[in-house]
Amino acid sequence: QQFIIWTDHKNLAYLRSAKRLNSRQARWCLFFDRFNFVISYRPGSRNVKPDALSRKYSITETRTDSTILPTSCFIGNLTWEIENKVQQAQSEIPAGVTSPPGTLYVPDSLRSDVLAWGHTSRIACHGGVYRTIRLLKRRFFWPTLERDVKEYIAACSTCARSKTSNRPPSGLLQPLPVPSRPWSHIAVDFITGLPPSQGHTVILTVIDRFSKAAQFIPLPQLPTATETADTLVNHVFRHHGIPCDIVSDRGPQFTSQVWRAFCSALGATVSLTSGYHPQANGQAERVNQELEAALRCLAAQNHADWSKYLIWAEYAHNSHTSTATGRSPFEASLGYSPPLFPSQELDLAVPSIQ
Ligand SMILES: [Zn+2]
Repeated sequence: QQFIIWTDHKNLAYLRSAKRLNSRQARWCLFFDRFNFVISYRPGSRNVKPDALSRKYSITETRTDSTILPTSCFIGNLTWEIENKVQQAQSEIPAGVTSPPGTLYVPDSLRSDVLAWGHTSRIACHGGVYRTIRLLKRRFFWPTLERDVKEYIAACSTCARSKTSNRPPSGLLQPLPVPSRPWSHIAVDFITGLPPSQGHTVILTVIDRFSKAAQFIPLPQLPTATETADTLVNHVFRHHGIPCDIVSDRGPQFTSQVWRAFCSALGATVSLTSGYHPQANGQAERVNQELEAALRCLAAQNHADWSKYLIWAEYAHNSHTSTATGRSPFEASLGYSPPLFPSQELDLAVPSIQ
């Protein structure tokens, strides 16, 4: 099929009709003969789209308003249905009933919907009682909220099927030093033996020991030490900087010479948990248990879907309040929590200014 090349290189337009060619031009002509195209000259001033990519503009050059991408683009609907419903129901609430500043009072009729959102939505991922209460209280209020959350979760069939025990793994036997900033000390671990999902069977979990923020990275199989190092650079260090210490179990990836060399090249120390006390990597193990439970809840219908939900499990983990810090990992690592609803944007801006 013939195609058209628009170029601001005027001489090219005459390439095929030229009587005399030097050897270099002749070689190019031979090459071009393989393709079926016509060349159309377009002055540079009218050829702005390719120029935007190919030309190095000087900073003093006047900018044209033309852009390659449209200025706006409709990608999909975002709805905050639950909040809209509660907003609309505000008129039904009897006079004299109040709720804490920044929260919406939820009337009786909508409480079960709000509970369902706070526990089963993608950003909640079937959190436990404490987390669900903390999440709901960021935007909603009603007097029996805490009791209702407990009852709702006790009756949640997905949780009953997917969570074996609420007991956290026993505490650290060798307490690790408490880091003083986000992402300086990380814990890494693998979850293996998952059913294949979009070509993945393993998750690399990376925990910031300061903020408890997590990153879940799906992998096709258990990686080698080199692959683990590459993955960490690509997914973690590029965003958060190089850590001072990396704690892991004694998996072959982490006991290898390659791993030691990688860490020492970064200037990071390697902490390996004792074989007899694997719980010393308690943070990663605890998050792994939580993640496995969350994925079982989310992929309850089809276990091979887990990798689709992985980013939401991560988002939920980083949004929920951590019992260890009393803050969400987002807040502890970034300094703010992303708002649950856009209407909270203003409320959030004020305390950070203060
Ligand atoms: Zn549940």
